[in-house]
Amino acid sequence: MDCIFCKIVAGQIPCDKVYEDEHVVAFLDIAPITRGHTLMVPKSHAQDLATTPAEVVDAMMRTLKKVAPAVMRATGAPAFNVGINNGAAAGQVVMHTHFHLIPRSAGDGLQPWPHLQYGPGESRQLAETIAAALT
Ligand code: AMP
Ligand code: ZN
Repeated sequence: MDCIFCKIVAGQIPCDKVYEDEHVVAFLDIAPITRGHTLMVPKSHAQDLATTPAEVVDAMMRTLKKVAPAVMRATGAPAFNVGINNGAAAGQVVMHTHFHLIPRSAGDGLQPWPHLQYGPGESRQLAETIAAALT
């Protein structure tokens, strides 16, 4: 399969690895949003969160929790964002699921996301529709 993250996992393409265990590899993003931007990549290929087995998502999150304090210590960043670009419309470019860990500091220039406002009753109705979709 022509997947760049599978090739990194297989050692066919180099990466700046910071951590590896049975399920996950964590390495520096090659084009970081901030210094220390790190990717949590499962060793088994899955395109997106929906097709990633729950135990693999658990391992990705455990890796994130383990790596985040080390990234903060190494970079001096006091905070971080966690992101998943899930699907092309959300900006996913590499179709092998992954978490982004993005160190943040005051004045780093990144903008917060914009916010909408719901109309009267709109959020209640939407919440009910979502809840119904879960059953
Ligand atoms: P996404 O938009 O969530 O699919 O993000 C993919 C990320 O992978 C981007 O931030 C890229 O900079 C990063 N990336 C692509 N190729 C490599 C590579 N060979 N090594 C490390 N990071 C990479
Ligand atoms: Zn892959």
